This record gives sequence, C-alpha cells and structure tokens, in this order.
Amino acid sequence: MDLKSNEPFWLLKNGIINSYPSLQTDQFCDVLIIGGGITGSLMAHQCIKEGYNTILIDKREIANGSSSATTSMLQYEIDVPLYELIELIGENGAVMSYKACYDSIDTLNEICKDIKSKAGFKKKKSLYFAAFKKDVEWLKKEFEAREKGNFPVQWMEAEEINTQYKIPTSYGGILSSQGGSVDAFQLVHELLAYNVKKGLKVYDKTEMISVQYRKGDNIVELKSGAKIKCKKIVYCVGYESTNLIKEKFVDLLSTYAIVSEVNEKLTNVYRDILLWNTANPYLYMRTTDDHRMLIGGEDDEFYNPKLRDKILTKKAKILEKKFEKNFPDFKFLTDFAWTGTFGSTKDGLPYIGPHKDFKNSYFVLGFGGNGITFSVIGMEMLSNWLKNEKHELSQYFKFGR
Ligand SMILES: Cc1cc2nc3c(=O)[nH]c(=O)nc-3n(C[C@H](O)[C@H](O)[C@H](O)COP(=O)(O)OP(=O)(O)OC[C@H]3O[C@@H](n4cnc5c(N)ncnc54)[C@H](O)[C@@H]3O)c2cc1C
Repeated sequence: MDLKSNEPFWLLKNGIINSYPSLQTDQFCDVLIIGGGITGSLMAHQCIKEGYNTILIDKREIANGSSSATTSMLQYEIDVPLYELIELIGENGAVMSYKACYDSIDTLNEICKDIKSKAGFKKKKSLYFAAFKKDVEWLKKEFEAREKGNFPVQWMEAEEINTQYKIPTSYGGILSSQGGSVDAFQLVHELLAYNVKKGLKVYDKTEMISVQYRKGDNIVELKSGAKIKCKKIVYCVGYESTNLIKEKFVDLLSTYAIVSEVNEKLTNVYRDILLWNTANPYLYMRTTDDHRMLIGGEDDEFYNPKLRDKILTKKAKILEKKFEKNFPDFKFLTDFAWTGTFGSTKDGLPYIGPHKDFKNSYFVLGFGGNGITFSVIGMEMLSNWLKNEKHELSQYFKFGR
C-alpha cells in the first residue's frame, strides 16, 4: 500500500536519523512488534520499560509510513465531537475517551522529558472555530458538553478571535487549554534509539509475510526467509491493517498538507495554538518550531495514490487560498507539499485490542486526527493486556463494537 507521496517535510528536514539492519536469522522473543512508526515505537517503549524481551520490525525504513507524513497536532478533541459521541456510545464512554486523549498529551510530554527528546514537543492551546454561521449552534452544544465533562474550555466570540488571532472569517469558537505538537518522525527515532540501549532489537526492511498462530506462541515468517518465534504479537501496522483484517472497519481517505517558508512574523501570532475549523473536510494548522506554518486538510473520500499524486499541486493551491481567506493579514508561501493516507472510523475512535482471527495478538490502530494521542493511550491498554488485566476503554475501542 502506498501511504504517502512526494516526500513529506519531516523526512527532508531530518534526513536519515538512524538505520537498522534487516533480519536474516531466526530469533525468539516475548513480544514482537510489527510496525516501526509512532505507534510501534511507543509500544516498544512500554514493553522495554516492563522488562519484556522485545523485537520490533518494519518492512520500510523506520518511520517511513504515515508517521513521516503526519502534521502531528496533539489534540484531545476526537474527530467526532463530544456531544455526538455521547449520543453514539453514551456519556461514560465518550467522556472517558476524551479524558484519556486529554491525559495522553501530558503522558507524551513526560515521555519526551524522560528520554531527553529534542523532537520539539510543545504544549499548545487549541482553537476550534466555526467556519459557517450555521455551525455556531452545534458548536455551542459541543462547548456545553465539554464544560459538563469538566474540560477546561472557553467560548470565544468572533470579534475576540479576530482581535487575538486575526481570523475575520470565524463565527466564534471553543478555546481549549490542552493541546500540543511534536515532530513525530524524530520522536520515533529517539524512542527506538533510547530503547535499543535498554535491550530492544530493531530490524527495518524486514517484512512479516505470514504467521502461524499456535496455542502458546506464534511463528512469524519474514520475507527474508528468517522466522521469529514469539509469545505475543503487537500489530502496529497503521492503515495497512486493512490488508490483514477481513472485515471493513475503517474508511481510507486521502489527505493533503503544505508547509510554508520560514516566516517569523506569521508564526509569532500562532506559536502557541493549534487551529482547526468546522468545515467539512476541516482545515487544520499549526506552526513548526522552525517558524513555518503547517496546514492540512482538503481530504478526499477515496484512497487512490495515483489520482491523489496527480491532484497534489491543485490541492496545495486550494489549501493556500483557504489559508489566505481565513488569515488575510498573511501570505502563505508554500515550501513543501505532500499527501498521505488517512482513516476514519464510524465513531472517530481507534481500534485497540485483540481480534478473534489472530491468536496471542493485539492491535493498536489509532486512526483519524488523533492517531498519535490514541497510540499513547494504547501503551497502557497493551500493558494491561500483556498482564491479562482488563482496561476500562477496551469495550469502546474493540473490534466488532
Ligand atoms: C497528512 C497527515 C496528517 C496527519 N495529521 C495528524 C495529526 O495532526 N495528529 C495526529 O494525531 N495524527 C495525524 N495523522 C495520522 C497519524 O499520522 C497516524 O495516526 C500515525 O502516524 C499512525 O502511526 P502508526 O505508527 O500507527 O502507522 P505508520 O506510521 O504507518 O507505521 C506503520 C508501519 O507498519 C509497517 N508495516 C506494515 N505492514 C508491515 C509488515 N507486514 N511487516 C513489517 N512492517 C509492516 C509500515 O512499513 C509502517 O512503517 C495524519 C496523517 C497524515 C497522512
């Protein structure tokens, strides 16, 4: 599956940080993690911390799947608004899911401090603004649901937003104090390098092609012909999980991102805030720590890498225009543009848990605009599963829900 096209900004900015050997000989371990993106690296961090003999493999170079294409906004706000999620799964599950995403931003902050990360983790506020007058009614409903759930939010009127953030097109919005951003590509490399020193084994260009699921263990066959015998498998294969799992559980989309030239005047205004609007598809943006503006959006409801690549230039122009319409004080000069695969689930929640067709195995699939925060939640859920303990979110994130 083709997960991205044109080289994303993060790959060019960081270059090759670390490269690992491919696996050519048989191995055994307690836990095998398949997938070396942000999800796999966080799961590896958890497993090593808990003393499991752990191997991580990836068929590409490390962090060359979706984790190289991400805009890495860390939001507790799920793609489905809280009030709608309450209608879908009940108040308990909805508030618990939002709360877990909220806490995961602080957890990621702590992890970054622990490993002395230089990936630019930064706590930021988040402004969710109405793109159309008709959206104000439901956005106010959302504001009330958040207040009731004890999330620290403030309603901002259109004039206030315009004075503070120079957005004359908004009709009001919800300002949240919890949010963040990070260079996910760099963080993946840092997490793996940190854990390799503690015993993690990492192999890239190492593809799992089949698995014999046995009673007490699994035999994983690799493209190289080598085998890995392991007690547990953790699938962190992102959107390529759709090649493994028979039933349809996620809609694959195409999404687009552009990053501006360095512009301190622009980024000074938006340095501490994530911005996204209520349009469908929504427009989302943030600054990078090297003073660029990063915008994503223009999602298409299809997964077709060839077509997606063809229209990238057109999509980049549309994103630029949308930016300049919303932020008329600034000109957006695009330095890099790329496109990638995105996924959307029926309730905006991830799929984290075991699957009936895969023995001794656990999936951590954080989809949507919160993919990264969902992956952080997956660390604790995986930890519980490995100890045979229940997790309160399992019922909301499970397959077949
Ligand atoms: C343009 C764009 C913007 C986004 N913006 C945001 C955002 O602002 N905030 C947010 O939270 N999320 C965002 N996302 C989503 C986020 O990028 C993903 O949720 C996240 O990167 C998924 O990480 P992952 O590790 O699960 O998957 P990936 O990074 O795709 O890693 C999966 C890995 O599994 C490997 N693999 C697959 N099959 C095999 C196999 N058989 N054998 C070995 N290895 C295998 C792949 O090579 C790949 O490296 C965005 C995504 C895109 C494309």
